[in-house]
Amino acid sequence: MVDVEIRELMQPFVLSDYQVQEVYSRFCLEIAKGLRRTTHEQASTKCFPTYVQDLPTGDEMGKYLALDLGGTNFRVLLVTLKGHHEATVESQIYAVPKDLMVGPGVELFDHIAECLAKFVAKHDMHNAYLPLGFTFSFPCIQMGLREAKLTRWTKGFNCPGVEGEDVGLMLHDAIQRRGDAEIAVVALLNDTTGTLMSCAHRNPDCRVGVIVGTGCNACYVEHVDNVDLLDTEFKRIQKQVIVNVEWGAFGDHGQLEFVRTDYDREVDRKSINRSEQLFEKMTSGMYLGELVRLVLLRALERNKIFKLNTKRAAFVAVLQKNVDIFETKYISEVEADSFPEFPNTRRIVKQLFGVEKATVEDCQKLKYICECVTKRAATFVAIGISGLINKIIDRRVVVGIDGSVYRYHPKFDGYIREMMQKLVKPGKEFDIMLSEDGSGRGAALVAAVASKTK
Ligand code: BGC
Ligand code: MG
Repeated sequence: MVDVEIRELMQPFVLSDYQVQEVYSRFCLEIAKGLRRTTHEQASTKCFPTYVQDLPTGDEMGKYLALDLGGTNFRVLLVTLKGHHEATVESQIYAVPKDLMVGPGVELFDHIAECLAKFVAKHDMHNAYLPLGFTFSFPCIQMGLREAKLTRWTKGFNCPGVEGEDVGLMLHDAIQRRGDAEIAVVALLNDTTGTLMSCAHRNPDCRVGVIVGTGCNACYVEHVDNVDLLDTEFKRIQKQVIVNVEWGAFGDHGQLEFVRTDYDREVDRKSINRSEQLFEKMTSGMYLGELVRLVLLRALERNKIFKLNTKRAAFVAVLQKNVDIFETKYISEVEADSFPEFPNTRRIVKQLFGVEKATVEDCQKLKYICECVTKRAATFVAIGISGLINKIIDRRVVVGIDGSVYRYHPKFDGYIREMMQKLVKPGKEFDIMLSEDGSGRGAALVAAVASKTK
């Protein structure tokens, strides 16, 4: 058992049953608001209808390009669909330099088009007509399958000249400006939609797609009658629609103030999108490590960890000076450790502070800090998923998940399931599946399904 002082320090991260229920109720209320035309404006979770209409059947064929922007990496992919639920993927990761992430939007799209052109040339396909699915993982109002207006940048991007614009058109224009490849942008989608599609390709019961990565969000399959925002013509043709919840923005209207901590407020204050994406700032990879840094700093300042170490003041200075020095991947590594060796924890502590042999007690404390931050994130994600599952009429619902936090953390999946057991309505059955590259393969599938229906 970790000592009482650290437990006290972490108390604000431990949610009571009452708090969990309250967040759950508020979340469900917010979703209802997002879907209704009269309340949509006030809702923090926008519940944008996507124009991705049909789930893949598995018999899709042909070569498709996919672009993935907005996760840990920017990628270009060539996906060959072979029917019978099979696909092969060739892909390439490209850097997005920091200055492009906050520089003029046109330059960002020119860079993307350049990477595309290089990729196509490398694969000797510059003469082929290639349909492209663009996974653009930011909140957008879809006007059609290939038209989507960015509502706000998130996750460290902030390029002027893109908010309010059609990003499909911006990509199309950038490709035209070069004029060296015959690529048609046929679909624009969110990474959660791609995740749902790639899972539905393998398991027809999949109804929810979730990302817990650099950012955090979900989409789900909703009956058109529950989506006010759709026009009547669409409703006449389609029974179901994929709704992009954009739950990362939950809390932006004050709904989470009763559970936010000083650390959360500090993370928000230093971010480039202040007062926005507050749920995301408590759940996603871009922020979890930073939360741990701030808690660790407080623990050191109050002499609750590394108590006997004479260099404590120097550790404080290291943490104070270096924002983001505690990477989110360290959390996974620390939580993978076991008593009493703690090999990862000791390595990280050495790397950060030069401590040669951290004591068992100090390792236990650091692990506990990480656990509390992760468990709270998993609890919030479970609340969101459960809220969606309970809304869906199917008795059995499969949830497709992806993202660096979910994928690489040794216990995140377990934490989510445990909390979902408590929140999913009796009589419902759920399962979780790891998505096979929704942002890449999923985008190609959407492009394929789109080409098929034309
Ligand atoms: C974006 C979502 C996206 C999520 C995960 C959030 O910041 O608003 O559109 O799905 O990150 O990438
Ligand atoms: Mg991704």
